Amino acid sequence: MDWDDSPEQAAFRAEVRAVIEQYLPGRYREGNGPDERAWEFDRKSDDAGARDAAVAWQQALSARGWVAPEWPKEYGGAGLSPNEQFVLNQEFAAAGAPPVGGSGVRLLGPTLIVHGTDEQKAKYLPPILQGEVAWAQGYSEPGSGSDLASLQTAARRDGDEWVVNGQKIWTSGAHTADAIFALVRTDPQAPKHRGISFLLIDNIKTPGLSVRPLIDMGEHHYFNETFFEDVRVPAGNLVGDENRGWYVAMTLLDFERSNIVAAVGARRTINELIEDIGAEGVTATSPVRLAIADRYIETEVMFNFSFRIISMQNRGVIPNYEASTSKLFASELNQRLALTASRAFGLAGTRCDDGSAAGRYTNMYVRMVPATIRGGTSEVQRNVIATRGLGLPRG
Ligand SMILES: Cc1cc2nc3c(=O)[nH]c(=O)nc-3n(C[C@H](O)[C@H](O)[C@H](O)COP(=O)(O)OP(=O)(O)OC[C@H]3O[C@@H](n4cnc5c(N)ncnc54)[C@H](O)[C@@H]3O)c2cc1C
Repeated sequence: MDWDDSPEQAAFRAEVRAVIEQYLPGRYREGNGPDERAWEFDRKSDDAGARDAAVAWQQALSARGWVAPEWPKEYGGAGLSPNEQFVLNQEFAAAGAPPVGGSGVRLLGPTLIVHGTDEQKAKYLPPILQGEVAWAQGYSEPGSGSDLASLQTAARRDGDEWVVNGQKIWTSGAHTADAIFALVRTDPQAPKHRGISFLLIDNIKTPGLSVRPLIDMGEHHYFNETFFEDVRVPAGNLVGDENRGWYVAMTLLDFERSNIVAAVGARRTINELIEDIGAEGVTATSPVRLAIADRYIETEVMFNFSFRIISMQNRGVIPNYEASTSKLFASELNQRLALTASRAFGLAGTRCDDGSAAGRYTNMYVRMVPATIRGGTSEVQRNVIATRGLGLPRG
């Protein structure tokens, strides 16, 4: 298979590079890899410079339909082919350019396009594209993570409204989000997968809804606990049929796991590591050299997973266990890579985020810990691959 750019792809790549060169704000250009939520956090930052950067980058992408490269044009996306999306994402990742639109673009939008009504698409998709509404994801609960279908947050019908009570946890970015989509139990008597609905709570400031910070081990405020006390939501805000929300939820997870750019980020990290080793005059001892060679091979393998997903998307198929394979391999690769990089600097690798090269990689390692938990843990992905992919019986 020839993976070199076709002439059209090469022309498109040049166009993307020119846009990055001209419009990417300076604060996103400095090393350390793109922070996937930089745009979301910047748009609500206390720092006016950060807010301006978020707006400027959003507008540069919006002018080209590149806020949602994968959405069809009829919904305001760029309608790019998966190959073009790959080129775009590759260039963004290589430049450190943050994606714009957050979970609204990556998760909710594509799910609404599949399962939403025409009214829901008309109402909710444009504000996502315009950068006006960022969505948080209300799936996990204190007792329901891997076993998501056991969730207990309840929605009771009262006239034309749902009344929501319960708690979500690990809600990434809820403190800067404007809205939250949530899985809620609408039939407590039904078998657990059959009593769940998918609800859009389009104002995160709705009375009764409160967001409390959870500080992670890197001392960042990334996720939150979200509480619902008699939160009233219009009845029409269900996506899909009542009690059939599990299928909507799974479509969304398949989008979440289809990460086609992880290999690009990994290759960028390897290239930076090799440069840093040279610049710092670090002696790459034999074990370090061998480990870096292993990470290089694994990164090439990761490209193959990405291309498989792209070829499925080219055929209009939503990857399922293939998305799990990609998510699992990418998240574990990123952890191994960050650990390899941190160890390459010997004792200096015990410093964290102190401005040194070693400290940056150690910080990266700390930041990568959640990668194998979010979006379904590695064990859950292996279960999906074993049962849905290989047809093995459920234990
Ligand atoms: C960075 C990050 C961001 C997140 N963002 C969000 C968000 O925005 N919204 C949201 O709703 N959630 C979010 N989550 C939560 C995430 O989806 C859950 O943490 C995840 O699904 C695991 O659930 P749990 O934490 O309850 O762990 P548990 O399900 O309690 O798992 C504990 C351990 O048991 C293992 N285990 C559980 N069941 C099995 C099994 N059947 N077979 C083998 N092993 C098993 C797990 O692999 C894990 O090692 C986020 C998590 C992280 C780390």
